Amino acid sequence: MVIMEKVELRGCSEDELIEICQKIGLKRFRAVQLFQWVQQKAVRSWEDMKTIGKSDRQTLNTHLHLYALEKVRGQRSKDGTRKYLFRLEDGQTIECVLMDYARTKTRDRHTVCVSTQVGCAVGCAFCATGLEGFRRNLSIAEIVGQVLDITYYIRQEDPEFQVTNIVFMGMGEPLLNYDQVLKSIQLLNHEQGLNIGMRRMTISTSGVVPKIVQLARDNPQVGLAVSLHAARDDVRNSLIPMNRRYPLKELMRACQEYTQITHRRITFEVALTAVNARREDAEDFVRLLKGQLGHVNLIPVNPVVGTGMERPDPVTIKRFAQVLDEAGISVSSREERGTDINAACGQLRRQWEGELT
Ligand code: SAH
Ligand code: SF4
Repeated sequence: MVIMEKVELRGCSEDELIEICQKIGLKRFRAVQLFQWVQQKAVRSWEDMKTIGKSDRQTLNTHLHLYALEKVRGQRSKDGTRKYLFRLEDGQTIECVLMDYARTKTRDRHTVCVSTQVGCAVGCAFCATGLEGFRRNLSIAEIVGQVLDITYYIRQEDPEFQVTNIVFMGMGEPLLNYDQVLKSIQLLNHEQGLNIGMRRMTISTSGVVPKIVQLARDNPQVGLAVSLHAARDDVRNSLIPMNRRYPLKELMRACQEYTQITHRRITFEVALTAVNARREDAEDFVRLLKGQLGHVNLIPVNPVVGTGMERPDPVTIKRFAQVLDEAGISVSSREERGTDINAACGQLRRQWEGELT
């Protein structure tokens, strides 16, 4: 007897659900309803799908698997940032952060910072996730599930709540889980789903060169942030080991190609530490970024136990920004959010695992 493996419901597109429904003898409109319950209304169980009768739900349940992420921990920072530790079905845990930015006259902005892998193979010197090494890629259902479950939880307090922006800046390297990340973006963008604009989603990468160019071709609408952190190969090698494989010259060439294809401005992330925030470092950035359409975002590094990384003092950061600004490079210092709840990637998980052992 062949036992059919169940398909992860939260990872299915509307078309895939239509195909499955056709195969199992259910009408097309059931698939459309199902997609909306899952992707728009963010329900966490079959019983909550009120417009689908019990017998159809049972039929669907034998083919489709619905797993909602289990909230292990939630923390709220003084500035309103919320951080969640979610447990996946195999017991692994991932982090996810919701940032509420200042309300504008027209609309609120609610940004979710999503994880794409458990652990990370890149191993950056300052990063809590990198310290743990790579465990596995997240599935589409697990990536989209983070946004769905946050939506579900917040809607318990505020039924109108809508996530407006996504940043792929949680745990893991999104471009090393490329297909799943791109399909997740399609689902999050779907108009019968959460309907989050392509231009409101940003992928952050430590510099997987071939995938940067591929991304420009596959989805020129989605935003790109490049974690640059250093403008010289020797310094960057010491912070991001992957720089040995894809050195700055190749990375910058890929960035040029990205802007040629997409006409979009890249955000260059620079986490400032005691080793990369001198005046000479700033001057290196000026040389590297001349002629590149982009914006530099300075972030004082979040000290992570075990990395030995320290942040520079505010005056050094200010001077660094000034050098870039005077050279005509668009630059800002990222508002620090959620520092009191260890909102930097991977920190909550490490803290939690530390308490268990
Ligand atoms: N792997 C991707 C996306 C996840 S990390 C990447 O590296 O871009 C998201 C951002 O957080 C990156 O810019 C990363 O360099 C930064 N980051 C990681 N740990 C940090 C820390 N301790 N302090 C400040 N920024 C950190
Ligand atoms: Fe991986 Fe990004 Fe952390 Fe580097 S900063 S180890 S690429 S998650």
